[in-house]
Amino acid sequence: MKAWEANIRKVIPYVPGEQPKDADIIKLNTNENPYPPAPGVAEAIRKLAGQPQVLRKYPDPSADVLVSAIARYYHLQKEQVFVGVGSDDVLAMCFLTFFNSGKPILFPDITYSFYDVWADLFRIPYECRPLDAQFRIVKEDYYKENGGVIFPNPNAPTGELLPLSQVEDIIAHNPQVIVIVDEAYIDFGGTTALPLIEKYDNLLVVQTFSKSRSLAGMRIGYAMGNPALIQYLNDVKYSFNSYTMNQAALAAGAAAVEDDAYFQMTRERIIRTRERVKGELSGLGFEFGDSKSNFLFVTHESCPAEELFQALKKAKIYVRYFKKPRIDNYLRITIGTDQEMDALLDFLRSYLVS
Ligand code: PMP
Repeated sequence: MKAWEANIRKVIPYVPGEQPKDADIIKLNTNENPYPPAPGVAEAIRKLAGQPQVLRKYPDPSADVLVSAIARYYHLQKEQVFVGVGSDDVLAMCFLTFFNSGKPILFPDITYSFYDVWADLFRIPYECRPLDAQFRIVKEDYYKENGGVIFPNPNAPTGELLPLSQVEDIIAHNPQVIVIVDEAYIDFGGTTALPLIEKYDNLLVVQTFSKSRSLAGMRIGYAMGNPALIQYLNDVKYSFNSYTMNQAALAAGAAAVEDDAYFQMTRERIIRTRERVKGELSGLGFEFGDSKSNFLFVTHESCPAEELFQALKKAKIYVRYFKKPRIDNYLRITIGTDQEMDALLDFLRSYLVS
């Protein structure tokens, strides 16, 4: 080992789902939205492309056009909204800003696999609280002394939704620390904890444009909370990189949030497809919880998940498989278009009988 190696910040990085180059792959592995973004998004980007003089300049560091659009949509003050480069960036900033007590932060044992990576990166101690046998969060597990709490709702990769009353119980039991509810998938059937930010000054609700607003490629995420928390987040952001959001993302995000009719139509379409696919998968011998997200977390009565994952991949249908304790016999399948899901179901029908 070289002498300088001893002082390097060594981390085991998060591994995102595969982004294959091949266009004919049915891609159900990273919970992207199968529908394009609202038509106004392309229009906004075209407009920007027609004004190259604008690109010469730095973007607005306060991201005002996007922050204002989000604030208007949710009836908030601008001071209650923080934006970043996807909710990954927002969540990383939250870990850096709020989890500094030296006490372990708490999150579920089966959850978004970036949480432990940020905790390790920022040297934040953490404890994982086990989900119950049905993969549900046990709220009482979060009532002990801790350095902060974070969980997704619905949880990922399980898709399980914690009822809002239980989310509130967790927040109410943790007045000494910041509680972050990661609502990446809330628009697919959950009830947001957002109204609770008026009641609890230690709550942050984090959402994203990557799923329900079809803009994973633009990288836009946001946090909503009381102005003091948002100010602390901005202080850290401005100490790290003032211009996190580029001009195209700002324009695209503002256009997306302004088209509510399109948003409602596409999210309802995904919910409809999800419920139909649940019925079909049951008939094929799959078991799963009552996902309220844009994916299903399934296990088969006889076919091992890893085998099925490989067989699907060979057939150019990509889903997600996590070789991890408790979930290594499950597949996470993103809800695509009806046509994509029919191709998946056709494959499963023939594979599972042969
Ligand atoms: N939270 C959860 C629970 C997720 O599954 C994801 C998607 N990988 C994210 C946050 C981050 O999404 P993005 O950075 O695209 O907003």
